[in-house]
Amino acid sequence: MENFTPVIHRYEATVSNFFVNAFLVETKNGVVAIDATLAVSSSRTLRSMIDDKIKKPLLAVLVTHGHPDHFTGLAELTKGLDVPILATQGAIDFAMSEDKEKEPIALQIFGDEFPKKRIFPNKVVKGGETHTFDGVNFLLTDYGPGESDDDTAWSLDIDGIKHVFLGDIIHNHMHCFFRDGHAIEWLKNLDRLLDQYDHTTSLYTCHGDPCGIEIVYWHRAYIQAFIGILKSMLKGKSSLNEDEKNALVGKMQSFLPNDKTLFLLTYEMDKTIALLRKNGVV
Ligand SMILES: [Zn+2]
Repeated sequence: MENFTPVIHRYEATVSNFFVNAFLVETKNGVVAIDATLAVSSSRTLRSMIDDKIKKPLLAVLVTHGHPDHFTGLAELTKGLDVPILATQGAIDFAMSEDKEKEPIALQIFGDEFPKKRIFPNKVVKGGETHTFDGVNFLLTDYGPGESDDDTAWSLDIDGIKHVFLGDIIHNHMHCFFRDGHAIEWLKNLDRLLDQYDHTTSLYTCHGDPCGIEIVYWHRAYIQAFIGILKSMLKGKSSLNEDEKNALVGKMQSFLPNDKTLFLLTYEMDKTIALLRKNGVV
């Protein structure tokens, strides 16, 4: 086994109608995890994929951004181990503020499935840096605000093909979260993806199936549809009433006829609209 080609394992965690992926990159002598999922059971399953299926040591965890469904599983994933957990300072700061803000609602939705013990990344990294584990190079790109306050992606080359772990910069045909108010920057980040990658690139998103660069055009249209319809419904008003909010969600479900991660779209809609107005998006 002189030349070992890294193998990418996807784990899709499902809690009720909520889908979130984490990924394991198997190297010759170990495993690098990308994100940790949200729940107690899902992060334990992810850990058991490493211990019982792949049977190689966990070398590091790379975190894409600070939304709870990507980091609250870290304690279970790394339980009993001393491994580096890498993220940008922006993602760590955001995770810490999210942890305070979202704990009550997470307990309400997920109950005992929401981990009581949460830990945060322990190694601060910067965009443009490459971090090597077991001879495999992982390049970090920091996109700044987008779906969260600081979106990042980790990429590696396998046999000349780029494999990019995009976190939530892309949702593959699942509804999206605009509550952090950075829809305009998000669109710019999508343009950046088109500059950076081409038709040969493999993209791994935390919501939905792995895909190619063509997904960027779909995703751009989803964001533009949301902004455009919201603008047209607001017509200078500062908020929408319940019927109007339902109509907006109906239009988005007409654009994307499913209810996958729909609660991300409907979460705190009044606050979402207020923030998008404050940021000049609508
Ligand atoms: Zn997110």
